[in-house]
Amino acid sequence: MVRRVPPTRYPDAVAVAYYRSINQLITELGKTTLSMFDEHIRKQIKLYEADSFRQDAPLDVIRTAIDMIKGLSLNIFNSNKVQSIAQGFMNSLNLFNANNMQAQGKVKGIDPTQYEPWLESFMRTSVAENTSYITTIRDEYFPRIESIVYQGIKNGSGAKKIRDQLVERVGMTRKRAMFIAVDQTGSIMGQMTAKRHQQMGVSKFKWVTSQDERVRKTHSELSDKIFSYSDPPAVGLPGTDYRCRCVAIPVFDD
Ligand SMILES: [Zn+2]
Repeated sequence: MVRRVPPTRYPDAVAVAYYRSINQLITELGKTTLSMFDEHIRKQIKLYEADSFRQDAPLDVIRTAIDMIKGLSLNIFNSNKVQSIAQGFMNSLNLFNANNMQAQGKVKGIDPTQYEPWLESFMRTSVAENTSYITTIRDEYFPRIESIVYQGIKNGSGAKKIRDQLVERVGMTRKRAMFIAVDQTGSIMGQMTAKRHQQMGVSKFKWVTSQDERVRKTHSELSDKIFSYSDPPAVGLPGTDYRCRCVAIPVFDD
């Protein structure tokens, strides 16, 4: 009797949970920005617009207000919190993939997760990488909002338009978080799957696309084709390309 190999699954729920955790920080950052804008910056923009020839004091107040947002953001994105989000993400991803790979290995009576000397350093590196991606979200945010505020003042855009642009920037920052969550989930899952497949003696895999979305042409061309782990296609292993949601199905040579 031939036992059916369970499919390799893409951990959608893990990606969503990771995005939500990062998004909570962005929501806090956005709230802080807008409340500082409403309480301190808006009024100074009006004062400056009314009398920009005689005084620079409003600009100083605005500078101070932005510095205060920066200070508060250090607490929102504090390294313990960011690292614990990255660690939680990696733990969930590892658990999901380990269960999936154990179910596949069972067909051959092998548990690929029993001895994994590579795992500890792989986890540590991935947590560090993701911690840095999340931190970068904050680092990239401030030059943008500074430019929105100062360019807006320079061009006389008015407080309302400047505020709208800040809201828009927060939205773009959320998109960045979504990109990181999906990209990292696929990439790390692809690498873990490859390690565990090879651990269970699988040297070949079948490329399967997610099918449920706009799969890029270069990946749909690989769909259902069989590759060797020692000689993967030019785009790399399934999942490791930018935002790739493809998976590797193990090919047991019987
Ligand atoms: Zn893909």
